[in-house]
Order: sequence, then structure tokens, then C-alpha cells
Amino acid sequence: MGGNTWYQGKHEPIVSKDLFDLVQDRITSQTSRVNNQEFAFTKLMKCGLCGSGITADEKIKKQLNGNIHRYVYYGCTRFNDKECKCGYIREDDLIKQLENLIDQMSLDEIGIKQKIKAEVERHKKFQAGMLGIKSIIKVADIDIRNYAKYILRDGTNLEKRELISCFKSKVVIKNKLVSLE
Ligand SMILES: [Zn+2]
Repeated sequence: MGGNTWYQGKHEPIVSKDLFDLVQDRITSQTSRVNNQEFAFTKLMKCGLCGSGITADEKIKKQLNGNIHRYVYYGCTRFNDKECKCGYIREDDLIKQLENLIDQMSLDEIGIKQKIKAEVERHKKFQAGMLGIKSIIKVADIDIRNYAKYILRDGTNLEKRELISCFKSKVVIKNKLVSLE
């Protein structure tokens, strides 16, 4: 018998208590994750019109068929100019423009080489120490530009923030156009 009495009886519950708890947990954690939404690129960029910081906002759009789309917009905080006409730029547009910037920047300007180097060294040490494998990865073999673009598209928010903060120049948004200061 033990603790299983809860499940006994003629009618089996449609959802077991364990599953119910699991689903409840998941719903709760998802809700709190949405509430604490951290945007990837806030506080890293500057408004090209008034010099204020750039903040983000999200809009949820629900289509008639029930699909839900989440759009993130970036725009001026209007800290320096309450009337700033900088406007808003959608996050996917921002990322596309940042990718183009990365294509035009020198590797020095991108500035993540040291980070990648350290990461590769760590990985090598792990392979040698834990697995006894001598890694053949060399930093020179890594395409830094592609790595940076990969982070922009598929990295975590933290990785994206790290990438942008490694840039040697500040990213500026002016009339929906992204450039370097
Ligand atoms: Zn502004």
C-alpha cells in the first residue's frame, strides 16, 4: 500500500498527481520566466539622436488562428530628450543589421578573440585532463566573424550581451539604422 492509496479506487484519476504537479511547476516557471524577461541588447547601445540609452519593450500579438507572436522592439529611453524622435527597431531587424556590421568590422574591433582563445584553452584542458585527448583546435582555425554571428542568432542573452560589450566601439541606433560610434 504505502503512499499509493491516493491512486486507488474504482476510477483512476485522469491526470496522476505527479503529472499534475509537474505541469503546474512548468506553468509557474514559464510565467515567471516571461515576467522576468531579460532583453538581450538593452543598456549596451546609444541613441544616435540624443545620446540616451536604448531600452526594449515586447509586444505580444495573437493571430486569429491562435498563434502567438512575440516581438521585441528597441528604442531610445528619452532620458536626454523627452521628445526624441528616434523611433523603434524590431529585434530581428537589429540582429540583421548587427550581422552586417560584423561583416564590415575588423577582427580587432569585434574584440572577442581573447574570449574565444580562453574558451578554446579551457576546452583543450578539459579534453586532455578528463578524456586524455589532445585537441587539435587552434584559435586561428576558428572563423571569429562567423562565431560572432552565430552568437547573435543562436546564443543566449548573456552571450549576446557579452559579444556586444566586447566591441571596441559603442553601437548607435539612429533613425532605425545601426552603426558604430
Ligand atoms: Zn534619443
